[in-house]
Parts: sequence; structure tokens; C-alpha cells
Amino acid sequence: CGIVGYIGFNDSKEILLKGLEKLEYRGYDSAGIAVANEQGVHVFKEKGRIADLRSVVDGSVEANTGIGHTRWATHGAPSKTNSHPHQSNSGRFTLVHNGVIENYDILKREYLQNVPLKSETDTEVIVQLVELFVNDGLGVEEAFRKTLTLLHGSYALALIDEQDKETIYVAKNKSPLLVGLGFGFNVVASDAMAMLQVTDKYVELMDKEMVIVKKDEVTIQNLNGEVISREPYTAELDA
Ligand code: GLU
Repeated sequence: CGIVGYIGFNDSKEILLKGLEKLEYRGYDSAGIAVANEQGVHVFKEKGRIADLRSVVDGSVEANTGIGHTRWATHGAPSKTNSHPHQSNSGRFTLVHNGVIENYDILKREYLQNVPLKSETDTEVIVQLVELFVNDGLGVEEAFRKTLTLLHGSYALALIDEQDKETIYVAKNKSPLLVGLGFGFNVVASDAMAMLQVTDKYVELMDKEMVIVKKDEVTIQNLNGEVISREPYTAELDA
């Protein structure tokens, strides 16, 4: 299982699909991507191989922002519905997640009694919580941070907002995740191998950090909102 993301000036679809192919070695049962352009957010997902996902991706959709996922099911059977990306009920927020949210059932009962869920995954609560807190009046960054502080378990995740195609929200706890730096673009990946096709400069993330990723700016914060600075390293090309 793994995660990829791209934000920049190129079409993201092929970069994401190639990245997911590089992560195939990690094992998975389904895969998906979501890309954002002026028309909105487009989700393509399928049970099975990346080749199966490729066959459902609409090649005519061009988008400079996107996230991708290979799933190793832990909660909910392998199926198209349970595969990632998952969307909030209004469709505004779209999320990919690796890991396990141990308290998803408690969060569902405490916060989401009135929010119908579409999948059987532990993941969906995350994206529905972000939307709930935004509907309650929080800004997206604050809603994302508040959601993260409620989660128990492991996660590498990436979230996009249909109303802001210039940002990917990223976070990590006990699952690997890196941010890759480019000129005029930035990427996200579970493993540098996935994105060596576009950059060899990476910034490691620590547990309970979140990152605001834009095409020309990366801001790492802890869950108190304090900004953290960290130097990138150069990944081995033969990794
Ligand atoms: N727990 C999530 C699910 O079952 C994510 C699994 C993964 O890491 O791929 O959908």
C-alpha cells in the first residue's frame, strides 16, 4: 500500500500512475487517483491492479493537482466503493489514507451520527470529520488539524479541497511519508522510489506532523500549528 501526490504545472495523472506502479511492491488490492482542475475533482478508482485503474482513467481530463493510493484493505472488503480516494458527502474534500484509525468507531458515534457514511472503511471518518468541522465554521487548515488531533492509530494521508486546487494537506503518524521538492512543483510519496522520476530531493516527515504542500512552497507544522524547518536530503537514484 502507498500514497502519492503531485502539485505543479504538469498534468498529474501519469506522474501519479507511474508513482503507484513503483509502489506495487508494497502489495495492494485496489488503487485510485483523484485529480483537481477548473471543472472540479475527478476520482478514478478500481479494485485490482494499477493496469485496471489505468483502464478507467479518463485520459482527456488534465489536472495539475492530484493524489493517488494503493490500498491494502484493513476495514471493509476490497471493492471499488471501499477503495480510496474517499470523498466527504458534499464532494468538497477528497482523501487518501494508509494505516489504521483505531478509534474510528468512537469518532463515528461521537461526531458523525447524522452523517451517512458511504464505505465500510476506517478512513472515511477522517474526510467526513474535516467537512463537519469546516461546516461548523473552521478554516480548512484548522479543521484538518483538529481532525488529526482526534485520530488514534497510524496514518499517512493526503487531502485535497475542491475549492482550493493550490494545496495538498498532508499528515503522518506511524506510517511512512515524504515530501519531494521540485522546481515549480512538489510531490508526496510513501517511498522516494515512487517519485524519483521527477525529483531526488526529499524532506522526511516525523510522526504527528502535518504539511501544507503548494507548488512552490512546503510548510511543515506540528499539531500545535508551530512551523518546523527541516533540510531536504538527496535520495539515491538507484534506490
Ligand atoms: N485502513 C484503510 C482501509 O482499509 C487503509 C488501508 C491501507 O493502508 O491501504 O481502507
